[in-house]
Amino acid sequence: MNKKQSWAYSPAPESTGHITLKDQYDLFINGEFIPSTGGKYFDSINPATEGKIAKVAEATKADVDKAVKSARTAYEKIWSKMASKERGKYIYRIARLLQERAREFSVIESMDGGKPIRESRDVDVPLSAAHFFYYAGWADKLQYAFPGRSPKSLGVAGQIIPWNFPLLMAAWKLAPALATGNTLVLKPAETTPLTAMKLAEIIQEAELPPGVINIVTGAGETGRFLVNHSDINKIAFTGSTEVGKYIMKAVAGSGKKYTLELGGKAANIIFEDASVDQAVEGIINSIFFNQGHVCCAGSRLYVQEGIADQIISKLRKRMDTLVVGDPLDKNTDIGAINSIIQLDKIKMFVNMGKDEGGTIYQSSCNLPDKGYWFAPTIFTDVSQSNRIVQEEIFGPVLAIQTFRTVDEVITKANNTPYGLSGGIWTNKGSKIFKVSKEIRAGVIWANTFNKFDPGAPFGGYKESGIGSEGGVEGLRGYVELD
Ligand code: NAP
Ligand code: MG
Repeated sequence: MNKKQSWAYSPAPESTGHITLKDQYDLFINGEFIPSTGGKYFDSINPATEGKIAKVAEATKADVDKAVKSARTAYEKIWSKMASKERGKYIYRIARLLQERAREFSVIESMDGGKPIRESRDVDVPLSAAHFFYYAGWADKLQYAFPGRSPKSLGVAGQIIPWNFPLLMAAWKLAPALATGNTLVLKPAETTPLTAMKLAEIIQEAELPPGVINIVTGAGETGRFLVNHSDINKIAFTGSTEVGKYIMKAVAGSGKKYTLELGGKAANIIFEDASVDQAVEGIINSIFFNQGHVCCAGSRLYVQEGIADQIISKLRKRMDTLVVGDPLDKNTDIGAINSIIQLDKIKMFVNMGKDEGGTIYQSSCNLPDKGYWFAPTIFTDVSQSNRIVQEEIFGPVLAIQTFRTVDEVITKANNTPYGLSGGIWTNKGSKIFKVSKEIRAGVIWANTFNKFDPGAPFGGYKESGIGSEGGVEGLRGYVELD
């Protein structure tokens, strides 16, 4: 219970009785689960308990090679020759099976990554299924996606994903690549490989031809083998800007295509004419839910001067009511930080914010003794040049500044190396159009935040990436156009 609350919810834990997890997960290559040639395994743990969930195979260079060979054979012999409507049927099958097993996937996603069950149940899993449905529909309509041009598949794609939306990022990568006729090798993040391995079971159940999807687990090294493999036509990466830059250099001159979805430092802007309570709730949602482990999280807030005190006071009150704790409890707003490494990084940034002279306010919640946790935190009295205003923290930490004029806030919002997303809170449509046109970010939400749909493209400017995922645009990264 939060110290300032005089009431508490009764626990409402989601059952784990309906899930099946093996003690050990091997690599998924050519339609089968096979051990790594190196014989090494690593543990995937539950960050809310620090307990081990399963051991997972670490793919070697030889394993990645095997996975790429199997993808190449499947591409040449089966997938590229199959009628596109038949390819679509397989993708529909994956979507339906995922929907049928949605509860199981939600629970495993929350156990492996620490996110609240409400998020995995209401966002991650349904959006993942929706993504497969959406791109299944495109499989036999590709000629209409690019009027006057003929799209051709690329071949074998290597796909590398992060730990914040493990299943959803897998869906964002796999669905458009399959619909456009490519085969692939996917590498999940080291701390969250389990829903990808469960997806491998669905892929078997859907009777997808062996080798069309291969999944190699491991750490950054396994990702590097994939990036540097000579028989890959395309690298699709979601993760940090640092690794994104490494990938750009590694593939330069190789002829490999690439798309990169990288970091962000989104600005939320609240104007004096905004609906204050709606804006406060939107800010809470944009930075604190999902522990701030969201690339498009609104980690900078700009409030127009006249309402700054009111907004900050309301934010503090609302922060104190947030429930931090067991990710499997349906009342939980904020779950566990994904790993000890990420927790240390957040702590480092918060200490830096204090050293830089910021005024800190933290929610008065009690944190569980075991596991990795961080209380919702806001900083005021910060300036543009502070590192907590410039750099991506990837945790529940918000830096708040004020502004007077529209032009001033546009300049401040754009003053970052990133350009992934942003939010505007106002009751004036004209302001929404002016500001959203001048902010260099791939997605701008107005009077809402973090809304996603498979039909809407998502991608960043500047150091936030290259290319888009989602929508018709998401097909573009997987085809050559004649
Ligand atoms: P990360 O360290 O860049 O890792 C991302 C993936 O790349 C992981 O699978 C990682 O493996 C692998 N990897 C690490 N080093 C590699 C290398 N040298 N070559 C090839 N692969 C390598 O990022 P993260 O910390 O997991 O994820 C958080 C970041 O992702 C944040 O910056 C966030 O903004 C960004 N993100 C962006 C979007 C978007 O759409 N723009 C969406 C979600 C997240 P291991 O994890 O096993 O080490
Ligand atoms: Mg884990």
